[in-house]
Amino acid sequence: MADESPQEIRAEALESILIEKGLLTAEAVDDVITRYSEQVGPMNGARLVARAWVDPQFKKQLLTDATSVVKSFGFEGGQVEKLVVVENTNKVHNAVVCTLCSCYPWAVLGLPPKWYKDPAYRSRIVMEPRQLLSEMGVRLGHHVDIQVWDSSAEIRYMVLPMRPSGTQHLKEEQLAELVTRDSMIGVEVLPGKPS
Ligand code: FE
Repeated sequence: MADESPQEIRAEALESILIEKGLLTAEAVDDVITRYSEQVGPMNGARLVARAWVDPQFKKQLLTDATSVVKSFGFEGGQVEKLVVVENTNKVHNAVVCTLCSCYPWAVLGLPPKWYKDPAYRSRIVMEPRQLLSEMGVRLGHHVDIQVWDSSAEIRYMVLPMRPSGTQHLKEEQLAELVTRDSMIGVEVLPGKPS
């Protein structure tokens, strides 16, 4: 295929050599791809968020010891050996970055988006968070403090977004469907529903 990137060509070449040498099977590769597209992803984080919105006791646990909570859910994907969940409120907006590279809680958010690894995002969210967030569609009043959390190999962060207005009648499963990946990184505010 003519429009493949050099990385894609390299990955394919590597894959076929490993399969040819008997070090890897095509089924194993397919299994990993299926796992990351169907079982590991932001739908896992969304389940935690929706539960926290409807269950104050669970929310308290999630905010005090997310690592144990995530362990009890048994999500695959890893990268959550130490997870901290930070809560957005009317007064504080949290956003997550890895200034050093691309540390990210795979088990709850899946694989990181391209922009998360971009040097521009990694520096600007620290240097000028209000400006960058507004460019990404999050316009915060000046009474709202912004806290930026720097993920690392030791500790990963996830944002608990605010529950959108007009969703009082929704059940936990329906609420989970409203939660986006970006809202759990802190670069999106979930829109309210007309009630
Ligand atoms: Fe990193």
